[in-house]
Order: sequence, then structure tokens, then C-alpha cells
Amino acid sequence: MNESSFKSCPLCNENNSIECIGDIYGKWSRKYFTLLRCKVCFYAYLADPLICYNQIYNEDYYSGFGADPLVNYLHELENPRDSVRRFEWDGIIKILLDLVGSENSKRWLDYGCGNGCLVREGISRGWNTIGYDEGWITNMAQSRGIPILNKNELDNLENQFDIITAIEVFEHLVDPVSELKKIRKLIKKGGVLFFTTGNARPYHNNLLNWSYASIPEVHVGFFEPKTIATALEKAGFKPYWPGYLPGYSNIIKFKILKVMRYKHEPLWAKTMPWHVLSRLVDAYYGVTRHPVGIAI
Ligand SMILES: [Zn+2]
Repeated sequence: MNESSFKSCPLCNENNSIECIGDIYGKWSRKYFTLLRCKVCFYAYLADPLICYNQIYNEDYYSGFGADPLVNYLHELENPRDSVRRFEWDGIIKILLDLVGSENSKRWLDYGCGNGCLVREGISRGWNTIGYDEGWITNMAQSRGIPILNKNELDNLENQFDIITAIEVFEHLVDPVSELKKIRKLIKKGGVLFFTTGNARPYHNNLLNWSYASIPEVHVGFFEPKTIATALEKAGFKPYWPGYLPGYSNIIKFKILKVMRYKHEPLWAKTMPWHVLSRLVDAYYGVTRHPVGIAI
């Protein structure tokens, strides 16, 4: 038993449950980070995450030249119709419609909205959408008229939203439960929290080989469906598993094209049976296995 085994879990609070998984090398920072995991809830997290956010989440990062070379948020903001990200926006909105029935009078907050493109997409389709985030790319989005709240504005709100989305946010957080508690304060009772984050379950026995865990400067926490369910319950949500909803087809299409480093939809992708392909990918990677949170 090594020293880390005596620590208690920062997510489920179980005592003496932490094991050391190994080290991850960060190419951007050129340093090693130690990955720990709870044996009870399977929360995996970096022992020593970087917290110099202004240096990490800067213009380079949002333009695809920073710690995560697969993202280009500036391109998406400036060329939304041209970006493969539009498949993700489309899939999310389809899923929200399945979860809440219709957009009529529903207040939707996109938490950690970054470049605000999902907010803009929601508004263009008739939703009452607003974002929350701060940083260089968020300033760019606001200068284009996308409505985004800052931290101070958000702190004054309570019990306001029917829907909160958090798209690829949780893996960036050093304290996901406290962030979920903030989200719970903002959402109305019965409201729906829909989020995406990688599913660590298929990599349970080889976490260090998971590409999602290979950018430790920005991805600092990893979740299995059980981890997420535990975190949701601690924050006042009931985990709910809607299963594979049709909108996932386009979300998975986006993820595949992104990993293949396509910025624009290639010709071959227009003729692929994505509704079939996405089911196969999902069976392997478990994209849809995470629960949704219902505020209780
Ligand atoms: Zn735990």
C-alpha cells in the first residue's frame, strides 16, 4: 500500500480508497502528472493539476495551438456553418427536445459555454438560451452579441433554469462536486442537467492509454457512469439514464470527425449511415452510458 492509499476520495469522501494509477506526460507543459483513482466511485484525477488558468486557456488554446491540438474554438465562432462542431450542436438540441418536450418558455443555461456557439445555435432555433463562462474566447463571443453571464452575475441567480447543459466541462474541473452544487442552485426543481464528458469505463484497466487522458494540462478528472451518478447524488440530482437517444448520432459523428482532425465535413462523411455507425462506436466507447441529472 503506498502513501496515496490513505487519502480520502475528493468526490465520494470514502477513506483510504485512493490508488495510484501512474504518470501522464503533458507534451505542452513538458512535465509528468500523477493520476490517482478512487477504488469505490472510480473517480480518477490528477494529484497535482495545473491551476495557472490564464496561461493555459489563452488565445493559443482557443485557436488550436495550445494544450489541446484538437480544438479550434475561434474557427467555430467565426465559421459556424463550416465547422464539424455544428453536428454536436444539432445532436444536443435534438436530445434536449427528447428530454424536455419542447423549447416553449424553457430557460436554458449553457454552463462553461466557452465560445458561446451552442448558445447562439439555441437562440437561432427559438430557445431562451444564455451562457456562462469567462476568458479570452468568451470575450470574443460577447463582442459578437452572444449573451453570456460572468461569475458575479451567475452568483446572484438561484432557481432560474429549466435546463442546464455542460458540454465537455467536467473533465476540466478540479472540484466537480462543488461545481455541480452551484449548478443545482441555479436549476429549478425537476430541471434537467444534460452534459457530456468522456466515459472512462471502457479504459478501466488501461486508463493511461486513453487519448482523453493524454492532455493533463486541461483534462484533470475522469469519470465512469458510477462516478457521475455518485457526484450527481451528492449535489442534489437524481441520476437518470435515458439510453441512446437519436441526437447522439450527430454528437458521435462530430466526435469521430474531430478525432480524425477534420475541421470541415469531408465528402465521404455525407454518405455514411451515421445512425448505424454511431451505435457501433457507442457500443465500444459507451458515449451514452453517463446519466442525465434531474434536480430533486
Ligand atoms: Zn470515490
